[in-house]
Amino acid sequence: MQILVVGAGVVGLAIARAAARKGHEVIVAEQTRGIGNGVSSRNSEVIHAGMYYATGTLRAQHCPRGRRMMYDFCASHGVPHRKYGKLIVATEDSEIAKMEAILKQGQINGVEGLVMIDGAAARAMEPALNCVAALHSPETGIIDSHSFMRALQGELEDCGGMIAFDTRIERLIHTQAGWLVRFSGSEGGELAVDAVVNSAGLGAQALARNTEGYPAQRVPRLVLARGNYFGYSGRPVFSRLIYPAPIEGGLGVHVTLDLAGRMRFGPDVEWIEEEDYDVNASRAALFYDSIRRYWPGLKDGMLQPDYAGIRPKLTGPGEPAADFMIEGPAQHGLPGLVQLFGIESPGLTSSLSLAEAVVAHLSS
Ligand SMILES: Cc1cc2nc3c(=O)[nH]c(=O)nc-3n(C[C@H](O)[C@H](O)[C@H](O)COP(=O)(O)OP(=O)(O)OC[C@H]3O[C@@H](n4cnc5c(N)ncnc54)[C@H](O)[C@@H]3O)c2cc1C
Repeated sequence: MQILVVGAGVVGLAIARAAARKGHEVIVAEQTRGIGNGVSSRNSEVIHAGMYYATGTLRAQHCPRGRRMMYDFCASHGVPHRKYGKLIVATEDSEIAKMEAILKQGQINGVEGLVMIDGAAARAMEPALNCVAALHSPETGIIDSHSFMRALQGELEDCGGMIAFDTRIERLIHTQAGWLVRFSGSEGGELAVDAVVNSAGLGAQALARNTEGYPAQRVPRLVLARGNYFGYSGRPVFSRLIYPAPIEGGLGVHVTLDLAGRMRFGPDVEWIEEEDYDVNASRAALFYDSIRRYWPGLKDGMLQPDYAGIRPKLTGPGEPAADFMIEGPAQHGLPGLVQLFGIESPGLTSSLSLAEAVVAHLSS
C-alpha cells in the first residue's frame, strides 16, 4: 500500500517506520520544518513503567509493552537513555492506600519489580525525601526523545520512506481507489494514496473534521491541559524520579532528571482554551507548596519558569481520564483510514507498540 502518515511526532514516526518495515510505501506529511516540533518536544521524556492505567485500556496494554520495546530499541540503536527508577511517595498515612492501589494495578498490568517500601527505606535511597511510604518502580527511565525520533526517521528512510516537511494536510477525500489528499505549504497540491493515518496530535480533530464522509459525531472534543515546568538552579539532590500521589488530570508535580542528572519539576495541570506555551510564572507558589510536601529542603528562589507542553485530552476537569482513542475501519467503516485521538501521556513510551497496532488496523 501507499500510506500517508500525517504528523512527524514520535507516534507518527513510529507508525511510519513500522509500516515501511512491513514493505509499504510511506510518506509522512509534517506541517512544520522538522520532526518532533509538536507535543513530542514538550514532555518529561520519561519511559513510563505502566502501572497507573486501568485494566482493559489501550494505555495499560501499550505502555508496558511499548516500554520494553523502547528499551530494546535504545539498546540496539544507540539511543541515549537511563533507567533511573522512580519512587511514588506517600507523604501522609492517608495516601498509602493510593500507593497500594497503584501497586495492585501495576501488577495486573505486568509491570516488573514494583515494591512497597517504608519511609526509612525510601530515605536510605533518597536522603532528602520526606515520606511515610513509597512505591519503587525500577523499570522507569528517561530517554533522549529527539535521538529516538531521529533513529525512527533514519529507519523509515532506510526502508524507502520519506518525510515531506512544510506540508499541511488540509482535506482527506475518500475515492473508489483510496484517498485523495489536499495539502498546502510551500507547494500545495493533491496526492492519491491507498491509506491515511491521522497522527496529527493537537491537530487530529481538525483534520478528522476535514475528512469527507467521516461522521462528525465520531470526532471527540479536544481539551487542552497545559503542563508547566520549572527548572532548578542548584545541585541535584535526587538520583531517581520522584512522584507524589497522582492528581486529577496528571501525575502530580514530580522531579524529573535529564540524562546529565539535572533536576526539573513538573508538569502541573492548567486547563486552557487556546494553544499557548508561555509558562505561567505565577504558578511557582503552587510548585513550591507541592514539592515541599516531599522535599521540605527546597529553598525559596530556586525554581525558574522553564517550558510548557500541552496535553491533547479528550475529557476535562472533573471527568474521568480518557483512554487513547484509535479509530480504524472496523470502528468507522471507511477503508484505509486510521485516526488517533487523545495521544497524551504515556504516548512517547507507548509509541512503538501503538505503531504496530495501527499498522494492523490498516491491514485488517
Ligand atoms: C506536558 C507533557 C508531558 C508528557 N510527558 C510524557 C512522558 O514523560 N512520557 C511519555 O511517555 N509521554 C509523555 N507525554 C505524552 C507524549 O509527549 C505524547 O503522547 C506524544 O509526544 C504524542 O506524539 P504525537 O506524534 O501523537 O503528537 P505530536 O508530537 O504533536 O505530533 C503531531 C505532529 O502533527 C503535525 N500536524 C498537525 N496537524 C497537521 C496537519 N494538518 N498536516 C500536517 N502535519 C500536522 C504537528 O506539527 C506535529 O508535529 C507528555 C505530554 C505532555 C503534554
